[in-house]
Amino acid sequence: MKGLIQLLFITLPLFIVAQVQPAPDRGPNEGEGPFDRMVIRGANLIDGTGAPAFGPVDIIIEGNRIKEVVLVGTPHVPINSEDRPAKGTKEIDANGAYVLPGFINIHSHVDGGPKAPEAEYAYKLWLGHGITTIRGVPAGEVNWVENEKKRSAANKIVAPRIVNFQVPGSGKEWKGGPLLTPEKTREWVAWANSKGVEGIKIFNLDPEIMAAAIDESRKLKMGSVAHLSQLMVGRVNAREASEMGLHNLTHFYGLFESLYKDEDIQHWPRDLEYNDEQDRFSQVAHQWDKIHPRGSDEWNELIDFFLEKDFILDPTMTAYLAGRDVMKARNADWMEPYVLPSLHDFYEPNRLDHGSYFYNWTTWEEVAWKNFYRVWMSFLNDYKNAGGRVTVSDDASFIYNLFGVGVIEEMELLQEAGFHPLEVIRGATLHAAEAIFEPKGKPIEFGIVRPGLLADLIIIEENPIENLKVLYGTGFPRLNDETGKVERVGGVKYTIKDGIVYDAKQLLRDVEDMVKKQREERGEK
Ligand SMILES: [Zn+2]
Repeated sequence: MKGLIQLLFITLPLFIVAQVQPAPDRGPNEGEGPFDRMVIRGANLIDGTGAPAFGPVDIIIEGNRIKEVVLVGTPHVPINSEDRPAKGTKEIDANGAYVLPGFINIHSHVDGGPKAPEAEYAYKLWLGHGITTIRGVPAGEVNWVENEKKRSAANKIVAPRIVNFQVPGSGKEWKGGPLLTPEKTREWVAWANSKGVEGIKIFNLDPEIMAAAIDESRKLKMGSVAHLSQLMVGRVNAREASEMGLHNLTHFYGLFESLYKDEDIQHWPRDLEYNDEQDRFSQVAHQWDKIHPRGSDEWNELIDFFLEKDFILDPTMTAYLAGRDVMKARNADWMEPYVLPSLHDFYEPNRLDHGSYFYNWTTWEEVAWKNFYRVWMSFLNDYKNAGGRVTVSDDASFIYNLFGVGVIEEMELLQEAGFHPLEVIRGATLHAAEAIFEPKGKPIEFGIVRPGLLADLIIIEENPIENLKVLYGTGFPRLNDETGKVERVGGVKYTIKDGIVYDAKQLLRDVEDMVKKQREERGEK
């Protein structure tokens, strides 16, 4: 969402995002490894391909690579220790636990002051929720992101892998001026590519500029994703963007417009003002009944068209979730422990902060969004069933949406849309990895659990197929019938990135400490 802020409000100081503090160097007690031989013992493996859980397996990791996955027995039968792989220099007992590929958050931002001034905060929330890769426009500046990307790649900081996508024209290091012609746009793309940028994020461009940006990025084997804002969608909808060669669509903008029945531009109320965000975010929901319905020829034809283009949908349903039930969003379990007071301030209704649009958000608005989600979800599910790929992301930190937590919420929303949790997890792992590596013309290097791939893994003691909610850092309250007490179960136990083992719960305790510290500094309890 930050693209909007940069492009449209560049002259308004209120909307300029202050520089984010880069993460501090990784401390001696932060993460263990990599090890020359690490063995994870007795796990149930959910490999990310869509295959059901299977085990028990021993997983051998050498350095930062998965070396071998060995089936060592049969469920409910004691494992014969003679037949097991040799001992490692590091052993993890994962008996009864689940191992998954690390999650990939395909639409992310690291946001700056004053709402969340330290990158460490977002990074730890992500890793604490099993996210080992983020793709996005983390902090606006090309060099800032490249620097963090390199530090993360070298494991000098506690952070997911970073895939740097930038909005065309952005980067204070770019000295070529605004992108007013296709030629200038191509220059920017080539410049960004030379700096290490791996893809472009289109937010609000005229068609000829957008086409040049996509074409040049494809030539340079870069990725592309578009948020087709209402300011541009009158000229380029999702179908047209896909025709131009766009790789991924984020949010829903342009999707409904590709299926309109009796209009071409959304028939807004006569007094609609785009920059009145309640106007904009409430009215945009009124599209669900304007389109050719589910199952119509037009609906099915659009699915076929996207499939043919290998188009990947990244819905970010979580980004708009508060619109369905703002009271729930405001009072979620993670608000108290994980949300910085400064971020909480930002979420609260306020005409100056982007996404804080609940000025007079009534039952009417929530019902409109509930209707909207039903139709949106049905398209996503039909696309998936036809063979299309749908990925997972959080687009935090707007609209009561928190880093990391939002990825898990998105997973629950996809299950609500009709996805099996295995299909959801595949979207957060294999399909997201394909979204990153396909444009480069390279095979995936992570995203599934396979020998030879990078060791980015999650270990969790509960079964996420049975209940996705166990992935929340705050866990899941469940009645223990033996004690008669409610206990919190779940939360990721270990997040392994590049062969380095992080205690996920400790990362989230660090986040809690950052929240407490800020409360103290503000004189709050
Ligand atoms: Zn965004």
